[in-house]
Amino acid sequence: MNPDEDDEYEDYVPIKKRKAAMKEKLVSDRQKERREEAERVMRERLAEEKKKRGIANSLLAVSAKLKAEEEANKDSREQAIKESIKNEEDKAALKKADQLLEQVQLQMSTPLMSVRERAKGIIYKERMPAIGDWRPIKKYRDMPEEERASIREKYFIEVNGKDIPSPIKRFEEMRLPRGILEGLKAKGIMRPTQIQMQGIPCGLMGRDIIGIAFTGSGKTLVFGLPMIMSALEQELRAKVQPTEGPFGLIIAPSRELAHQTYEVIEFYTDHLAEYHKEFPKLRSVLTIGGLSTGTQAMAIKKGCHMVVATPGRLNDLLTKKKMSLAQCQVLVLDEADRMIDLGFEEEIRNTLDHYRGRVAAAMTTMTTMTTMTTDLATKQEAPAVLGQRQTLLFSATMPKKIQDFAKTALVDAVVINVGRAGAANLDVIQEVEYVKQEAKLVYLLKCLQKTPPPVLIFCENKSDVDDVHEYLLLKAVEVVAIHGGLDQEERHEAIRSFKEGSKDVLIGTDVASKGLDFPAIQHVINFDMPKEIENYVHRIGRTGRCGRTGVATTFVNKNQDETILLDLKALLLEAGQHVPPFLMQLDSSAGGREEEEIGGVKGCAYCGGLGHRISDCPKLETTRQKTTSATKDYLTTGAARYTGAEGYAGDW
Ligand code: AMP
Repeated sequence: MNPDEDDEYEDYVPIKKRKAAMKEKLVSDRQKERREEAERVMRERLAEEKKKRGIANSLLAVSAKLKAEEEANKDSREQAIKESIKNEEDKAALKKADQLLEQVQLQMSTPLMSVRERAKGIIYKERMPAIGDWRPIKKYRDMPEEERASIREKYFIEVNGKDIPSPIKRFEEMRLPRGILEGLKAKGIMRPTQIQMQGIPCGLMGRDIIGIAFTGSGKTLVFGLPMIMSALEQELRAKVQPTEGPFGLIIAPSRELAHQTYEVIEFYTDHLAEYHKEFPKLRSVLTIGGLSTGTQAMAIKKGCHMVVATPGRLNDLLTKKKMSLAQCQVLVLDEADRMIDLGFEEEIRNTLDHYRGRVAAAMTTMTTMTTMTTDLATKQEAPAVLGQRQTLLFSATMPKKIQDFAKTALVDAVVINVGRAGAANLDVIQEVEYVKQEAKLVYLLKCLQKTPPPVLIFCENKSDVDDVHEYLLLKAVEVVAIHGGLDQEERHEAIRSFKEGSKDVLIGTDVASKGLDFPAIQHVINFDMPKEIENYVHRIGRTGRCGRTGVATTFVNKNQDETILLDLKALLLEAGQHVPPFLMQLDSSAGGREEEEIGGVKGCAYCGGLGHRISDCPKLETTRQKTTSATKDYLTTGAARYTGAEGYAGDW
């Protein structure tokens, strides 16, 4: 029979393919069920929490109550909240904020707990033990709280949490093995940065951390060093065998950032092996899209200590059982806010489902570790908490409310903030200039004269990057470009040549250059103002690092939304920068009382912008749109894939 003439005719599909399709459908149905179940359980828990606490039916109130329990100044805070609810308008704003925050809490905290944990109501109460029984040297152990506070004040380190160890001002006092100290020296790293002073001791003590710090603040070492030490501890207990490991996992939102982190880990593990003949070389594997899955799976199969991954590829390997997290005890989410923004919740949640954590371990002798760091205890008992891990969350910006939400999924977390304080204290001269759309390219050339290279230029979308790139090439500027539309090879090459200094200018989108570390950037030019103030903070944070002064120039014109301009104005005022007359003219009070505190929150509770309220938050709006379209995708194709402004296909 001719298939073209028969309407009923169906192509023959081989059984293998049919089975695969059925399996895929089953998996996707199951994923959907699990997601719905997770959300249901989360909602129930929220409702229970509210009922238990027997206070106003609002999430803000629950969160305020929880916080009040922890903090000693309970009465004064509640009083402040009550006083700030001055009139009906405030109440309405609070109610709306409550509703929006409730959605945000679901969005933020759901990915931080696995389905198993949520379904079984598992909440970890005990902190993880210190890595290799690490503790600060006596000088810091005995340091009075006032002295600790004054060090933090001096270095603009804000902390929040219980039993926070003293910040340590020298690497030599951190009880790190010699190999690591030699590695630091080889990199020319002499003194810890703010986040390192406070974060490394917390990490070595096994504490969960929420770190708010920019790329360039030295945060890689804050999670990298404790993770290396933890892996070393495991290796010394029992040599890693084929198929075993990893003991630590770092997830980053982009391939480039993952690659960069992997190189840092490799560098220090090489140094460890070089300086301590008794230590084997710790093996790390980079699992990102764009590289062969087979090679990555093979490297994991040989047995590895650490994995640095992007969410998409990681999930692929986990789902195909080419990798296991049964022994993994440390989880790092770098640029956590970005991963949530980019819609990777599902991937992160699935990853957590693969954690099995520390199994009851026998008493172990740690003689080798003892010779390495002088007075480590010789014996320790590992706890028998199944599935627990040390979680380290890093993010460049994180509003207070979101921190509170994230904290609910961690154990007694220490919040270390050098981000916001850092934003105001950045050594960056921020210049905002009114430039008409058609005059931008020409003005850009002039602007490039402000400082010597290297210069970073940010554009909001790919086509602008291409236009600016072409124009500057015509003007004989040594320039390279990077955006999501270029292939991995081109992006890699652009970054390499810019880092090496053979190119003076790099143009990129936010997504493409997220988290990348470029040394000594002199000038950041925002060819357009980003749509969200957080991105502005991310962008300008690329310059003015490690005591150097940098310049950030931002072009604005009538195309910009007033909301973002108000945010910008508030940020410039907060940082004590010059506010140009056209921004000064903008009436901050036009849309309400944004600059006042309502219900304990100043500005937007979601993105932290000071020029608007959560109800007008552009970031929340974008996130919602993305989530809605992603859900649609999920339902129609059975595969949760997300496409953001950059055509982000799950993982690159
Ligand atoms: P990160 O924020 O981890 O991406 O680090 C940014 C850059 O700062 C990297 O090139 C590091 O090598 C460098 N760095 C890290 N820690 C320090 C430090 N304590 N002093 C000077 N440079 C550092």
